[in-house]
Amino acid sequence: MLTLLKLLKDGRFHSGQALGTALGISRSAVWKQLQHLEAELGLSVHKVRGRGYQLAKPLLLLDSAEISAKESCEWPIHIFDSIDSTNAEALRAIERGMGAPFMILAERQTAGRGRRGRKWVSPFADNLYHSLVLRIDGGMRQIEGLSLVVGLAVMHALHDMGIAGAGLKWPNDVLVGDKKIAGILLELVGDPADVCHVVLGVGINVNMRSTDEVDQQWTSMCLEAGRDFDRNELVGRLAAKFQHYLRLHQVSGFSAIQEEWERYHLWQGRNVSLIAGINQVDGVVMGIDRQGALRLKVDGVEKIFSGGELSLRLRDDS
Ligand code: ATP
Repeated sequence: MLTLLKLLKDGRFHSGQALGTALGISRSAVWKQLQHLEAELGLSVHKVRGRGYQLAKPLLLLDSAEISAKESCEWPIHIFDSIDSTNAEALRAIERGMGAPFMILAERQTAGRGRRGRKWVSPFADNLYHSLVLRIDGGMRQIEGLSLVVGLAVMHALHDMGIAGAGLKWPNDVLVGDKKIAGILLELVGDPADVCHVVLGVGINVNMRSTDEVDQQWTSMCLEAGRDFDRNELVGRLAAKFQHYLRLHQVSGFSAIQEEWERYHLWQGRNVSLIAGINQVDGVVMGIDRQGALRLKVDGVEKIFSGGELSLRLRDDS
Protein backbone atom coordinates (compact mmCIF):
# COMPACT_ATOMS: atom_id res chain seq x y z
CA MET A 1 0.00 0.00 0.00
CA LEU A 2 2.81 2.41 0.88
CA THR A 3 4.56 1.65 -2.41
CA LEU A 4 1.42 2.86 -4.15
CA LEU A 5 1.48 5.99 -2.02
CA LYS A 6 5.07 6.68 -3.01
CA LEU A 7 4.02 6.53 -6.69
CA LEU A 8 1.22 9.02 -6.01
CA LYS A 9 3.04 11.39 -3.69
CA ASP A 10 3.91 13.92 -6.45
CA GLY A 11 0.25 15.02 -6.50
CA ARG A 12 -0.07 14.36 -10.28
CA PHE A 13 -2.57 12.12 -12.05
CA HIS A 14 -1.55 8.48 -12.56
CA SER A 15 -3.64 6.06 -14.57
CA GLY A 16 -4.85 2.84 -12.98
CA GLN A 17 -3.10 0.99 -15.79
CA ALA A 18 0.30 2.64 -15.11
CA LEU A 19 0.00 2.11 -11.35
CA GLY A 20 -0.96 -1.53 -11.86
CA THR A 21 2.01 -2.11 -14.17
CA ALA A 22 4.45 -0.43 -11.74
CA LEU A 23 3.18 -2.57 -8.86
CA GLY A 24 2.65 -5.78 -10.83
CA ILE A 25 -1.03 -5.95 -9.82
CA SER A 26 -4.38 -5.63 -11.62
CA ARG A 27 -6.32 -2.36 -11.96
CA SER A 28 -8.97 -3.61 -9.58
CA ALA A 29 -6.27 -4.41 -7.01
CA VAL A 30 -5.02 -0.82 -7.41
CA TRP A 31 -8.56 0.40 -6.74
CA LYS A 32 -8.77 -1.71 -3.57
CA GLN A 33 -5.43 -0.43 -2.30
CA LEU A 34 -6.55 3.15 -2.93
CA GLN A 35 -9.65 2.60 -0.84
CA HIS A 36 -7.44 1.23 1.89
CA LEU A 37 -5.18 4.30 1.69
CA GLU A 38 -8.15 6.58 2.16
CA ALA A 39 -9.69 4.62 4.99
CA GLU A 40 -6.56 3.76 6.92
CA LEU A 41 -4.37 6.81 6.45
CA GLY A 42 -7.11 9.42 6.18
CA LEU A 43 -5.80 10.60 2.79
CA SER A 44 -8.08 11.87 0.09
CA VAL A 45 -7.63 10.69 -3.51
CA HIS A 46 -9.30 12.27 -6.54
CA LYS A 47 -10.57 9.76 -9.09
CA VAL A 48 -11.23 11.18 -12.56
CA ARG A 49 -12.47 9.01 -15.41
CA GLY A 50 -9.95 8.96 -18.27
CA ARG A 51 -7.17 10.57 -16.19
CA GLY A 52 -6.72 8.25 -13.23
CA TYR A 53 -5.92 8.96 -9.61
CA GLN A 54 -4.42 11.96 -7.87
CA LEU A 55 -3.71 12.73 -4.21
CA ALA A 56 -5.70 15.75 -3.04
CA LYS A 57 -2.39 17.34 -2.06
CA PRO A 58 1.20 16.27 -2.79
CA LEU A 59 3.02 14.50 0.04
CA LEU A 60 6.52 15.36 1.21
CA LEU A 61 7.64 12.17 2.95
CA LEU A 62 10.50 11.86 5.44
CA ASP A 63 13.81 11.17 3.77
CA SER A 64 17.16 10.75 5.53
CA ALA A 65 19.14 11.97 2.49
CA GLU A 66 17.05 15.17 2.45
CA ILE A 67 17.58 15.66 6.17
CA SER A 68 21.35 15.23 5.92
CA ALA A 69 21.46 17.55 2.91
CA LYS A 70 19.90 20.29 5.04
CA GLU A 71 21.88 19.87 8.27
CA SER A 72 24.74 17.65 9.35
CA CYS A 73 23.20 15.20 11.78
CA GLU A 74 25.51 13.47 14.27
CA TRP A 75 23.48 10.28 14.57
CA PRO A 76 21.98 7.64 12.23
CA ILE A 77 18.31 8.07 11.36
CA HIS A 78 15.85 5.16 11.03
CA ILE A 79 12.56 6.02 9.32
CA PHE A 80 9.39 3.91 9.60
CA ASP A 81 6.26 4.28 7.47
CA SER A 82 4.09 3.20 10.37
CA ILE A 83 4.95 2.14 13.91
CA ASP A 84 3.13 1.75 17.23
CA SER A 85 5.24 4.48 18.83
CA THR A 86 8.71 5.84 18.05
CA ASN A 87 9.57 5.66 21.78
CA ALA A 88 8.43 2.02 21.93
CA GLU A 89 10.56 1.18 18.88
CA ALA A 90 13.53 3.03 20.41
CA LEU A 91 13.18 0.97 23.62
CA ARG A 92 13.07 -2.25 21.57
CA ALA A 93 16.17 -1.18 19.63
CA ILE A 94 18.05 -0.53 22.90
CA GLU A 95 16.99 -4.00 24.05
CA ARG A 96 18.36 -5.47 20.79
CA GLY A 97 21.68 -3.77 21.53
CA MET A 98 21.62 -1.02 18.90
CA GLY A 99 24.44 1.41 19.68
CA ALA A 100 23.34 4.91 20.74
CA PRO A 101 23.01 7.66 19.70
CA PHE A 102 20.40 7.00 17.04
CA MET A 103 17.12 8.52 15.94
CA ILE A 104 13.76 6.91 15.11
CA LEU A 105 11.23 8.76 12.96
CA ALA A 106 7.84 7.61 11.70
CA GLU A 107 5.26 8.83 9.21
CA ARG A 108 2.55 7.83 11.65
CA GLN A 109 2.10 6.23 15.07
CA THR A 110 -0.71 3.80 15.71
CA ALA A 111 -0.22 4.01 19.50
CA GLY A 112 1.58 7.34 20.04
CA ARG A 113 1.83 8.08 23.72
CA GLY A 114 2.07 11.00 26.13
CA ARG A 115 2.80 10.93 29.82
CA ARG A 116 0.95 8.49 32.10
CA GLY A 117 -0.28 6.38 29.19
CA ARG A 118 -2.14 9.23 27.51
CA LYS A 119 -2.54 9.14 23.76
CA TRP A 120 -0.55 11.30 21.30
CA VAL A 121 -2.60 11.82 18.12
CA SER A 122 -0.33 10.94 15.18
CA PRO A 123 -1.87 11.10 11.69
CA PHE A 124 0.07 9.97 8.62
CA ALA A 125 2.69 12.31 7.07
CA ASP A 126 1.28 15.41 8.79
CA ASN A 127 3.46 15.80 11.85
CA LEU A 128 6.82 14.87 13.31
CA TYR A 129 7.11 11.79 15.52
CA HIS A 130 10.67 11.59 16.71
CA SER A 131 12.72 9.70 19.30
CA LEU A 132 16.41 10.32 19.91
CA VAL A 133 18.27 7.74 22.00
CA LEU A 134 21.30 8.72 24.08
CA ARG A 135 23.58 6.64 26.24
CA ILE A 136 24.26 8.34 29.54
CA ASP A 137 27.20 7.33 31.68
CA GLY A 138 27.83 10.51 33.63
CA GLY A 139 25.42 9.75 36.48
CA MET A 140 22.38 11.73 37.64
CA ARG A 141 23.82 15.11 36.65
CA GLN A 142 23.46 14.16 32.98
CA ILE A 143 19.74 13.56 33.46
CA GLU A 144 18.93 16.53 35.67
CA GLY A 145 16.59 18.92 33.87
CA LEU A 146 16.94 16.94 30.62
CA SER A 147 13.27 17.16 29.65
CA LEU A 148 13.42 20.94 30.04
CA VAL A 149 16.52 21.01 27.81
CA VAL A 150 14.58 19.06 25.16
CA GLY A 151 11.73 21.60 25.37
CA LEU A 152 14.16 24.47 24.85
CA ALA A 153 15.72 22.77 21.81
CA VAL A 154 12.27 22.11 20.29
CA MET A 155 11.16 25.69 20.92
CA HIS A 156 14.28 27.12 19.24
CA ALA A 157 13.81 24.82 16.24
CA LEU A 158 10.25 26.19 15.94
CA HIS A 159 11.51 29.79 16.20
CA ASP A 160 14.04 29.07 13.44
CA MET A 161 11.21 27.78 11.25
CA GLY A 162 9.28 31.03 11.79
CA ILE A 163 6.96 30.06 14.66
CA ALA A 164 8.00 33.04 16.78
CA GLY A 165 5.21 32.64 19.34
CA ALA A 166 6.37 29.24 20.62
CA GLY A 167 7.14 29.20 24.35
CA LEU A 168 7.55 26.76 27.23
CA LYS A 169 5.32 25.38 29.96
CA TRP A 170 6.93 23.54 32.86
CA PRO A 171 7.97 20.77 32.81
CA ASN A 172 7.96 19.82 29.14
CA ASP A 173 5.28 21.30 26.93
CA VAL A 174 5.76 23.68 24.04
CA LEU A 175 2.83 26.01 23.49
CA VAL A 176 1.80 28.89 21.27
CA GLY A 177 -0.34 31.06 23.55
CA ASP A 178 -2.49 28.51 25.40
CA LYS A 179 -2.36 25.92 22.61
CA LYS A 180 -0.13 22.88 22.57
CA ILE A 181 2.08 22.57 19.49
CA ALA A 182 4.53 19.92 20.75
CA GLY A 183 4.73 17.27 23.43
CA ILE A 184 7.78 15.64 25.00
CA LEU A 185 8.10 12.24 26.63
CA LEU A 186 11.38 11.07 28.15
CA GLU A 187 11.80 7.39 28.99
CA LEU A 188 14.77 5.87 30.74
CA VAL A 189 16.18 2.33 30.89
CA GLY A 190 19.08 1.17 33.01
CA ASP A 191 20.57 2.59 36.18
CA PRO A 192 20.48 6.41 36.16
CA ALA A 193 23.25 6.50 38.78
CA ASP A 194 25.54 4.47 36.51
CA VAL A 195 24.95 3.65 32.81
CA CYS A 196 21.54 4.10 31.24
CA HIS A 197 19.79 4.95 27.99
CA VAL A 198 17.36 7.77 27.68
CA VAL A 199 14.78 8.11 24.92
CA LEU A 200 13.93 11.71 24.06
CA GLY A 201 10.47 11.47 22.47
CA VAL A 202 9.15 14.56 20.70
CA GLY A 203 5.89 15.04 18.79
CA ILE A 204 5.51 18.31 16.87
CA ASN A 205 2.31 19.29 15.06
CA VAL A 206 3.53 20.40 11.64
CA ASN A 207 0.93 20.28 8.85
CA MET A 208 -2.08 19.01 10.84
CA ARG A 209 -5.10 21.18 10.11
CA SER A 210 -7.89 19.37 11.90
CA THR A 211 -8.60 16.50 14.24
CA ASP A 212 -11.44 15.61 16.59
CA GLU A 213 -9.21 13.46 18.70
CA VAL A 214 -7.21 15.97 20.76
CA ASP A 215 -9.10 16.83 23.94
CA GLN A 216 -7.30 20.09 24.75
CA GLN A 217 -6.42 23.29 22.90
CA TRP A 218 -3.82 22.60 20.22
CA THR A 219 -2.23 24.20 17.20
CA SER A 220 0.26 23.31 14.47
CA MET A 221 3.00 25.08 12.54
CA CYS A 222 0.78 25.35 9.47
CA LEU A 223 -2.18 26.75 11.44
CA GLU A 224 0.13 29.39 12.94
CA ALA A 225 1.91 30.34 9.71
CA GLY A 226 -0.81 29.70 7.12
CA ARG A 227 1.42 27.46 5.00
CA ASP A 228 2.74 23.90 4.93
CA PHE A 229 6.24 23.03 6.17
CA ASP A 230 8.90 20.56 5.01
CA ARG A 231 9.32 18.08 7.86
CA ASN A 232 12.80 17.09 6.63
CA GLU A 233 13.93 20.67 7.18
CA LEU A 234 12.40 20.65 10.66
CA VAL A 235 14.24 17.42 11.57
CA GLY A 236 17.51 19.04 10.46
CA ARG A 237 16.86 22.17 12.54
CA LEU A 238 15.87 20.09 15.52
CA ALA A 239 19.03 17.98 15.25
CA ALA A 240 21.16 21.15 15.20
CA LYS A 241 19.42 22.50 18.32
CA PHE A 242 19.73 19.15 20.10
CA GLN A 243 23.42 19.00 19.28
CA HIS A 244 23.95 22.48 20.77
CA TYR A 245 21.82 22.21 23.92
CA LEU A 246 22.70 18.60 24.79
CA ARG A 247 26.39 19.46 24.59
CA LEU A 248 25.92 22.55 26.78
CA HIS A 249 23.97 20.46 29.28
CA GLN A 250 26.57 17.68 29.26
CA VAL A 251 29.51 20.03 29.76
CA SER A 252 28.05 22.62 32.13
CA GLY A 253 24.95 21.00 33.66
CA PHE A 254 21.39 22.34 33.76
CA SER A 255 22.40 25.49 35.66
CA ALA A 256 23.91 26.82 32.39
CA ILE A 257 20.46 26.67 30.81
CA GLN A 258 18.22 27.68 33.74
CA GLU A 259 18.13 31.40 33.05
CA GLU A 260 17.40 31.01 29.33
CA TRP A 261 14.66 28.46 30.03
CA GLU A 262 12.95 30.84 32.50
CA ARG A 263 13.05 33.65 29.94
CA TYR A 264 10.84 31.58 27.64
CA HIS A 265 8.53 30.22 30.34
CA LEU A 266 5.05 31.39 29.35
CA TRP A 267 3.63 30.90 32.84
CA GLN A 268 6.13 32.94 34.91
CA GLY A 269 4.22 34.85 37.59
CA ARG A 270 0.91 33.13 36.78
CA ASN A 271 -1.51 31.64 39.32
CA VAL A 272 -1.48 27.89 38.84
CA SER A 273 -2.53 24.59 40.32
CA LEU A 274 0.11 21.90 40.51
CA ILE A 275 -1.47 18.48 40.23
CA ALA A 276 0.03 15.19 41.38
CA GLY A 277 -2.54 12.42 41.12
CA ILE A 278 -5.40 13.41 43.43
CA ASN A 279 -3.33 16.07 45.22
CA GLN A 280 -3.36 19.71 44.23
CA VAL A 281 -1.27 22.68 45.38
CA ASP A 282 -2.18 26.25 44.39
CA GLY A 283 0.46 28.93 44.04
CA VAL A 284 2.24 31.50 41.89
CA VAL A 285 5.02 30.43 39.50
CA MET A 286 8.34 31.99 40.55
CA GLY A 287 10.51 30.05 38.10
CA ILE A 288 12.78 27.02 38.21
CA ASP A 289 15.86 26.15 40.26
CA ARG A 290 19.33 25.04 39.11
CA GLN A 291 18.11 21.46 38.69
CA GLY A 292 14.99 22.37 36.69
CA ALA A 293 12.54 21.91 39.60
CA LEU A 294 9.53 24.25 39.79
CA ARG A 295 9.64 27.15 42.28
CA LEU A 296 6.15 27.96 43.45
CA LYS A 297 5.03 30.58 45.99
CA VAL A 298 2.46 28.82 48.17
CA ASP A 299 0.78 30.93 50.89
CA GLY A 300 3.65 33.42 50.68
CA VAL A 301 6.39 30.77 51.03
CA GLU A 302 8.62 29.47 48.21
CA LYS A 303 8.38 25.72 47.69
CA ILE A 304 10.23 23.46 45.26
CA PHE A 305 8.55 20.69 43.26
CA SER A 306 10.06 18.09 40.94
CA GLY A 307 9.19 14.66 39.57
CA GLY A 308 7.86 13.13 36.41
CA GLU A 309 4.20 12.93 37.33
CA LEU A 310 3.45 16.60 37.99
CA SER A 311 1.13 18.71 35.81
CA LEU A 312 0.52 22.45 35.85
CA ARG A 313 -2.85 24.04 35.11
CA LEU A 314 -3.68 27.74 34.99
CA ARG A 315 -6.16 28.90 37.64
CA ASP A 316 -9.16 30.98 36.61
CA ASP A 317 -7.71 34.05 38.39
CA SER A 318 -4.38 33.73 36.56
P1 ATP B 1 0.72 17.75 31.31
O1 ATP B 1 0.51 19.17 31.70
O2 ATP B 1 0.55 16.78 32.41
O3 ATP B 1 1.94 17.54 30.47
P2 ATP B 1 -0.85 17.02 29.05
O4 ATP B 1 -2.32 16.76 29.06
O5 ATP B 1 -0.37 18.09 28.13
O6 ATP B 1 -0.55 17.41 30.50
P3 ATP B 1 0.97 15.01 27.84
O7 ATP B 1 1.26 13.66 28.35
O8 ATP B 1 2.13 15.95 27.67
O9 ATP B 1 -0.11 15.63 28.79
O10 ATP B 1 0.27 14.87 26.42
C1 ATP B 1 -0.85 14.05 26.23
C2 ATP B 1 -2.05 14.93 25.98
O11 ATP B 1 -1.81 15.82 24.90
C3 ATP B 1 -3.28 14.14 25.56
O12 ATP B 1 -3.99 13.72 26.69
C4 ATP B 1 -4.07 15.14 24.70
O13 ATP B 1 -4.86 15.98 25.52
C5 ATP B 1 -2.99 16.01 24.11
N1 ATP B 1 -2.63 15.60 22.72
C6 ATP B 1 -2.63 14.38 22.14
N2 ATP B 1 -2.20 14.43 20.87
C7 ATP B 1 -1.91 15.72 20.63
C8 ATP B 1 -1.42 16.41 19.50
N3 ATP B 1 -1.10 15.80 18.36
N4 ATP B 1 -1.25 17.75 19.64
C9 ATP B 1 -1.53 18.41 20.77
N5 ATP B 1 -1.99 17.80 21.88
C10 ATP B 1 -2.18 16.47 21.82
